Amino acid sequence: MYDWLIVGAGFAGSVLAERLARERGERVLIIDRRNHIGGNAYDRLDEAGLLIHQYGPHIFHTNAEAIVSYLSRFTAWRPYEHRVLAMVDGQAVPIPINLDTINRLYGLALGPDELAAWFAARAETVPEIRTSEDVVVATVGRELYEKFFRGYTRKQWGVDPSELDRQVTARVPTRTNRDDRYFTDTFQSMPAEGYTRMFERMLAHPNIHVMTNADFSDVRDVIPHRRLIYTGPIDAFFDYRYGRLPYRSLRFVHTTRDVAQHQPVAVVNYPQTEAYTRITEYKHLTGQEHPKTSLTFEYPSAEGDPYYPIPRPENQALFKRYEALAQAERNVWFVGRLATYRYYNMDQIVGQALATFRRIDAALERPAAG
Ligand code: FAD
Ligand code: UDP
Repeated sequence: MYDWLIVGAGFAGSVLAERLARERGERVLIIDRRNHIGGNAYDRLDEAGLLIHQYGPHIFHTNAEAIVSYLSRFTAWRPYEHRVLAMVDGQAVPIPINLDTINRLYGLALGPDELAAWFAARAETVPEIRTSEDVVVATVGRELYEKFFRGYTRKQWGVDPSELDRQVTARVPTRTNRDDRYFTDTFQSMPAEGYTRMFERMLAHPNIHVMTNADFSDVRDVIPHRRLIYTGPIDAFFDYRYGRLPYRSLRFVHTTRDVAQHQPVAVVNYPQTEAYTRITEYKHLTGQEHPKTSLTFEYPSAEGDPYYPIPRPENQALFKRYEALAQAERNVWFVGRLATYRYYNMDQIVGQALATFRRIDAALERPAAG
């Protein structure tokens, strides 16, 4: 008899497994339907011996000291600041849009104050910033919106930015200075030996049993457990009772090229051309030295593994109906990006899992010592 069955060995499931086993001494079985742990953060060596991310580029960044200090028990870090270029009108320019982006794209020599005025002259008046279109046109105007955001977003999400919640494009700021970092968080680093190694250390505890290639539907009635943590899609848990919650998927095409470097930065976005959204070159993230280089092309799709909850009002309303069912479940906790239908980064999921542990720890009696 296990104290806990945890469905999903990504950040949400693994953090909770670690906390429950180490802090409460409970017996945990953590399962994943895939053949590996780590969830979408899983990385591995490819045939050429290059470290790649199976499910697209994962860059760790956070402002939360407590989350860094928790994860640092399981990994050392390689400082890394993420930089992204966008191919616009045939040029590779910095995104987030900054001073250099505009000066290069329009052949100008503006300073920061002049750029602020330049944006202000183009920004549209939007009475209420509601959608992902509103956010951008209200800041930089329609032309830059069309060049950098509209096409990329339609490809990535399968809907127009005007039909997506503002939180999606609000993830990408606009700057009037020359800062070309993608993130400005106080902590930006990659796990020194990769994510998978970090997860292995997290789950290496005598009270934790890991079972991969195991789907919840195959084990739920077979393996006795007292309580359940579920980190898969919430609609699947309830057999799609109210219909399917939309999740956006991606097809990842991994390839190795016989050159030392393919592009100047880790990620190049393609908002105007190509069927893929972006190309990632991992050596920039990992610092690995190798005569060859490995790349991933991301092709968005409606079919396939669920990767992104799609933030729009009707989806949130459907999620709320599932959430009400979840709240009525006894001895089941729903955690993570798919089960709580939130477009969360890794650090936010770690924070959510640690907060869930504190709630569980407060709600349940401590098991007898020993
Ligand atoms: P997941 O990692 O999805 O783990 C859930 C696990 O549950 C999966 O392994 C799944 O196989 C398993 N599962 C589901 N159903 C079942 C079932 N029925 N039975 C058994 N197992 C099941 N975040 C960042 O902070 N920085 C980034 O740069 C970044 N880049 C990203 C790029 C891409 C392309 C994507 C898709 C996400 C990115 N993220 C990034 C977000 C990050 O992946 C998530 O925040 C994080 O992985 C979520 O962890 P999780 O445990 O909630 O979910
Ligand atoms: N986005 C865009 N053009 C870009 C970069 C981002 O339109 O060059 C929009 C797009 O809708 C994307 C969202 O901003 O999905 C968030 O971008 P982010 O890089 O955070 O996406 P993620 O890494 O989560 O896929």
